[in-house]
Amino acid sequence: MDSVIRRLDEAVVNRIAAGEVIQRPANVIKEMIENCLDAKSTSIQVIVKEGGLKFIQVQDNGCGIRKEDLNIVCERFTTSKLQKFEDLASISTYGFRGEALASISHVAHVTVTTKTADAKCAFRATYSDGKIKAPPKPCAGNQGTQIMVEDLFYNVNTRRKALKNPNEEYAKILEVVSRYAIHNSGISFSVKKQGDTVSDVRTLSNASTVDNIRAIFGNAVSRELIEVGCEDANLAFKMKGYITNANYSVKKCIFLLFINHRLVESAAMRKAIETVYTAYLPKSMHPFLYLSLEIAPQNVDVNVHPTKHEVHFLHEDSILERVQQHVESKLLGSNSSRMYFTQTLLPGVDCSSSGVVQSAANSSVITKGTSDKVYAHQMVRTDSREQKLDAFLQAVNNPLSAGPTEVITEVNARPPESSGRPQDTEMQDLSDLVEIADVQEDTVKPGGLSESEHFSPQTLPSRKRPWEDMDVELEKNYTRKNMTAACTPRRRIINLTSVLTLQEEISNQAHAKLQEMLHEHSFVGCVSPQWALAQHQTKLYLLNTTKLSQELFYQILIYDFANFGVLRLSEPAPLYELSMLALEDPESGWTEEDGPKEGLAEYIVEFLKKKTEMLKDYFSLEIDENEDSESGSTTWKWTVEHVLYKAFRTHLLPPKHFAEDGNILQLANLPDLYKVFERC
Ligand code: ADP
Ligand code: MG
Repeated sequence: MDSVIRRLDEAVVNRIAAGEVIQRPANVIKEMIENCLDAKSTSIQVIVKEGGLKFIQVQDNGCGIRKEDLNIVCERFTTSKLQKFEDLASISTYGFRGEALASISHVAHVTVTTKTADAKCAFRATYSDGKIKAPPKPCAGNQGTQIMVEDLFYNVNTRRKALKNPNEEYAKILEVVSRYAIHNSGISFSVKKQGDTVSDVRTLSNASTVDNIRAIFGNAVSRELIEVGCEDANLAFKMKGYITNANYSVKKCIFLLFINHRLVESAAMRKAIETVYTAYLPKSMHPFLYLSLEIAPQNVDVNVHPTKHEVHFLHEDSILERVQQHVESKLLGSNSSRMYFTQTLLPGVDCSSSGVVQSAANSSVITKGTSDKVYAHQMVRTDSREQKLDAFLQAVNNPLSAGPTEVITEVNARPPESSGRPQDTEMQDLSDLVEIADVQEDTVKPGGLSESEHFSPQTLPSRKRPWEDMDVELEKNYTRKNMTAACTPRRRIINLTSVLTLQEEISNQAHAKLQEMLHEHSFVGCVSPQWALAQHQTKLYLLNTTKLSQELFYQILIYDFANFGVLRLSEPAPLYELSMLALEDPESGWTEEDGPKEGLAEYIVEFLKKKTEMLKDYFSLEIDENEDSESGSTTWKWTVEHVLYKAFRTHLLPPKHFAEDGNILQLANLPDLYKVFERC
């Protein structure tokens, strides 16, 4: 063997060094994305061919490279970002050593097309082994930089052979770009294969971090996210991000970690957080984590090698502990709100329709629980002035509680045979209203109620009557002559399959525990027209009044199909305005192609008028010609408490999804609060 030491050819040395920095296409793309971000781009588009082995193109709209700099841009240690060694400590850009482009040009053919804001045109240059091949050529181009990397590792056989699988490389590229996309909300990213029209990763510049997580990891992850954030001045660090709650788990942990905005790995950090989750997730299941740490630059070694992703930093153990504590506290918090329904309520609870109807007696047993001893934190305190069942009637005698001055008067009662529906012999509001209908029948003229009839709660009789009696009475009333279908209190039997199917759907979807909660709740107050607070046992709930009402009225519609009493509005509903409102709602699906909303609204009004007879028969909706004026000065809070929430008690079968989509949210639980105080 020849033992003479020879100096290696410079090109070979450079190639070996470059191979250290650039090991696979994803490394190239990461370096190029970091350059785009350093150049303050807001749009970064990546196109690749054969997993990046054949072709990579990264296009940005950043500051561009000056024509004069194009000559040396691919030389080693040329950078626009660092001048003095001292600058290293305060470096805020990703790049600082001018090594990436040089390295890439030693193992691939590089073409740069770029235009700065004040240049008249763009310039293009190609590079090989760090050197520009010919003077930059003027060409057309937008502001920003486009860098093309072709035939990666064309001169490194071993590496090329090691990277045989373009699909694997492409997957790695998607991973890197999507992580940067999530970390850099406000900047749009896209990745696609050359020739494809659809991008495989795509985020928009106006999207939030959560939007981006949704776009990349899907709804299953994004809807279970908890925002995290903590900082410690002594340890000189800040942390923020999103982590999944205990509802979500996946076989392999997804951990996006950025330290000082660099995508890095930290086995220690991963372990610390995963330890916390073991208490919350099923065995060998893992969370999704996106964390961004900012650590005082002097405490992190920024001089990391481009391919060295594993990081270490000063005070590592203390920082990990703080992060761990914070994650734990967040998971605990989410456990008592979101998890409550799935972990605490659901086990053992029969959600099928058969378990839905509970008598008052049964539910009081459930309320007290099985254990005899009642601890202080289990006691339920409700206001002694708490509204009783007939508050609906009493409240109106109280001059302080302003009831609606004019109110919808008649709602038909639901007889016991409407199966699956909650019934309560004590609940009287609606049956009282039906009584009013009875009273009013004296004034009923053939063809409907008289125009002048208004009903206010002030005049409601306080008689009570159980549902069963009422039915008998309804039958009796039916013998009257000349009553229109709309006024006929007798129940029509509906055998329409479509309606029956919808009824069945509602009762199958019912959530028994939520129903119990609604049935027994104490109304606490309105937070806003949309949200209200209610207490049940030791728990405080936030309820979406809008969504619950929507569901209530839908259910009334389905269960009382063709069986409504007369819903006479003292002030007729302005059909045109209502149609406009409906069209404004995105759910209407209106697009500009449908023509102006005004025209459509007029059409709707005309259409409804044409269907007057059917609407009257099925829904007891009467439409008359004059529609104007605003409704009276009903206080909405009164209506929410005494009409809507009262109706929720007995007439709503809350669907299961309310427990998951945040429409009914447990805010606090007394025993949990005790736990928190014990810690203090
Ligand atoms: P570094 O990022 O460490 O400075 P690079 O080799 O990655 O080194 O880039 C060298 C130089 O090329 C940068 O300092 C910058 O001036 C210029 N450059 C590279 N990519 C871009 C880009 N997308 N937009 C603007 N300038 C760029
Ligand atoms: Mg760089």
